[in-house]
Amino acid sequence: MEIARRKFDTLIIGAGGGGLRAALQLASAEAHVAVVSKVFPTRSHTVAAQGGVNAALANVRPDNWHWHMFDTVKGSDYLGDQDAIEYMCRAAPQAVYELEHFGVPFSRLDDGRIYQRQFGGQSMNFGGEQAARTCAAADRTGHAILHSLYQQNIRAKTHFFDEYFAVDLVRDAEGCLLGALVMDIASGEPLLIEAKTTLIATGGVGQLFRTNTNALINTGDGMAMALRAGIPLQDMEFFQFHPTGIAGKGMLISEAVRGEGGYLVNAGGERFMERYAPHALDLASRDVVSRAIATEIREGRGCGPRKDHVLLKLDHLGSETVHKRLPGICDMVMTFLGFDPAESPIPVAPTAHYTMGGIPTNRFGQVVVPQKHGPEEPVPGLYAAGECACVSVHGANRLGGNSLLDIIVFGRAAANHIIEYLRENRYHRPFPDDGLEAARARLARWEQQGDGESVDALRGELQQVMEADCGVFRTEAVLADGLRKVSALAERMAQVRLRDHSRVFNTARIEALELENLMECALATVATALARRESRGAHTRIDYPRRDDVQWLRHSLYHRETRSVDSKPVRTRPITVDSFPPKERVY
Ligand SMILES: Cc1cc2nc3c(=O)[nH]c(=O)nc-3n(C[C@H](O)[C@H](O)[C@H](O)COP(=O)(O)OP(=O)(O)OC[C@H]3O[C@@H](n4cnc5c(N)ncnc54)[C@H](O)[C@@H]3O)c2cc1C
Repeated sequence: MEIARRKFDTLIIGAGGGGLRAALQLASAEAHVAVVSKVFPTRSHTVAAQGGVNAALANVRPDNWHWHMFDTVKGSDYLGDQDAIEYMCRAAPQAVYELEHFGVPFSRLDDGRIYQRQFGGQSMNFGGEQAARTCAAADRTGHAILHSLYQQNIRAKTHFFDEYFAVDLVRDAEGCLLGALVMDIASGEPLLIEAKTTLIATGGVGQLFRTNTNALINTGDGMAMALRAGIPLQDMEFFQFHPTGIAGKGMLISEAVRGEGGYLVNAGGERFMERYAPHALDLASRDVVSRAIATEIREGRGCGPRKDHVLLKLDHLGSETVHKRLPGICDMVMTFLGFDPAESPIPVAPTAHYTMGGIPTNRFGQVVVPQKHGPEEPVPGLYAAGECACVSVHGANRLGGNSLLDIIVFGRAAANHIIEYLRENRYHRPFPDDGLEAARARLARWEQQGDGESVDALRGELQQVMEADCGVFRTEAVLADGLRKVSALAERMAQVRLRDHSRVFNTARIEALELENLMECALATVATALARRESRGAHTRIDYPRRDDVQWLRHSLYHRETRSVDSKPVRTRPITVDSFPPKERVY
């Protein structure tokens, strides 16, 4: 098999908001940059982000970045790295103004300044009254950001490889990154992209769970590629379940609905959040609200014939406000449920939403790995940003509106560091003689038809197991069973049968490669969830209900070769301010 080769200064895998923000910075600095995406860039999952992006602009209520930092550290259940959190919160206002100048049509106040809505976990004065920190373009913020960034990249002459699938990273014997092996999805032709630096920006792995808000393409490819390249994954047990997905379907009903004044009720019509978060009510942090809903359902206070959901009420807000501030939600509820949410409440239940864990990086976007002796070190030439990375600003639980901020701020930060790196590393590293042979072997995966179960059936079973055994509430016995089941599924994967239709052969292979990646991420998620014997943020162990800062105020690391879990310390020291020590977390 001949493998075509191309050379660039920088390869970016992923064209969501993280990848495109980095690409723009690099292309503007005249770096020769390639962006590979398995879907057309503006179909990346960032396009689906609804509610908005956080920045302490103080346009609606008093605010400053230090309060934003406090809320983020507290929201993370103290597992977030405080240097990265300080950096992100300080950079937020500038990052938002840059987006505005790139053409993002933010919603406005009457005086022309950017409108800001309330979101969960936001406070003034380090835990005081509710803040209003989320900048939005109605409820289609991600759409506006992604399209603006794509257009700016076209202008800056970024080179796009659309509908190319990245299969694996390529490292040399010293561990330096040489680029990646990719495949043209339409033709199945392989391509080796050599680059002095590679940035992984492949997004999250929401497809691990049956009911989720994510795009079908969110299969954790970049995280699995990192694992196969010998890099551990960090904090994978922390998966965010969003409180309000459309019941039974999973599509997201943005937190903006509660931010605009909507609230939750149970079968008895009770506003039950008063019992779980007397101060913040429906705008408590997401892990708190998801647990509350799951508890209401478990204890028999759910709505509907199966008592399997609660109701989100917004009819009291008035039709005009609802339609002006939440047009996308109104469309979605009309389409999938057939009524106007300004008139009737929406049936909702928790749904898998966001991957807090990922590829470990520092705040410059460099991928860092532990050393046998001494502190962790960067992998030369390798960067990660966005939902696939764990920098970690979200720790054990992400606040709404902080992810769009994360991708913009750390996409840009990684690019700035890459620009420096390229100044000092002017030439491509030599490609090893046996490199092409190894590449061919990697590309041969799933070339042959197996005679076992179908990809679809295995993927469905994996999602069921993850939902049942690694969901909102977890125990040792259930997780151990889940780990056994996922390991068995990963083994059955070896004989997987591709979709048997010659005209879709390449896409069938892609589906198998994606399933392989999902399996890797599932193993990492269940193994770390089983290892962590405490409850923190989104990780709730019924058998270990308390947070244990003595033993567990640490990031977990999952290693693929040994299928083992160990840990590393949290960076509790911010850059310039005092750190926020762990406190009991109440809303
Ligand atoms: C429904 C929904 C609503 C949300 N709303 C908000 C919100 O209001 N505010 C907020 O802050 N956050 C929100 N989030 C979270 C936020 O949108 C995401 O975390 C963020 O957009 C992720 O951006 P990203 O650039 O990391 O990845 P993505 O946008 O997911 O992009 C990933 C890219 O990687 C590419 N890719 C992946 N694998 C491969 C491969 N093997 N080969 C080639 N290319 C590959 C894809 O083609 C894509 O271009 C929401 C998420 C969802 C699902």
